[in-house]
Amino acid sequence: MERTAVYPGFFDPITNGHVDIILRGLKLFDSIIIAVLKNPKKEALFSTKERVTMIEEIFADQPRIEIQVFGGLLVEFVRSHKGRIVIRGLRAVSDFEYELQMALMNRQLDPDVETLYMMPSVHYSFLSSNIVKEVVSMGGSVAGLVPEIVEDRLKEKLRQGKLSISQ
Ligand code: ADP
Repeated sequence: MERTAVYPGFFDPITNGHVDIILRGLKLFDSIIIAVLKNPKKEALFSTKERVTMIEEIFADQPRIEIQVFGGLLVEFVRSHKGRIVIRGLRAVSDFEYELQMALMNRQLDPDVETLYMMPSVHYSFLSSNIVKEVVSMGGSVAGLVPEIVEDRLKEKLRQGKLSISQ
């Protein structure tokens, strides 16, 4: 039986921390569905389409990765793909409380869906999409922290004035 896991997130934009978790997941599962959250309540720098396109480009040569957009309840998305496992990354202690709440709520909604947590490489333990955007907005380099495609798109946003330069 093929083992599939779902890796949900906002990915605004995807960072090497996310990529690290995906590559670890590929060691455990036959395939991974990257579920890109379309959340109208959360303001994003990149549109859903832009976030998906970047991920597609990064994993273009990886047939075991599928990219899907989702909104609404994660457990319903997982069920509709006949999955049972959700992968999440755990960085510093600060992630723990929110992740525990999410995992237990999802278990309440569907006891058959399990959440699996993985720690990224220490290099990415303090990395978030938000800090990446902040550094680029101030003219700093995020080389090595995000895939090259993402770095290019961030610079494009900066040039377009969509990532304002702070003083
Ligand atoms: P963020 O919290 O940066 O906005 P997402 O909502 O896209 O990220 O997160 C999706 C999942 O990836 C979450 O489980 C989150 O904890 C995890 N994640 C985000 N950044 C990293 C990282 N640098 N290392 C490991 N996991 C991460």
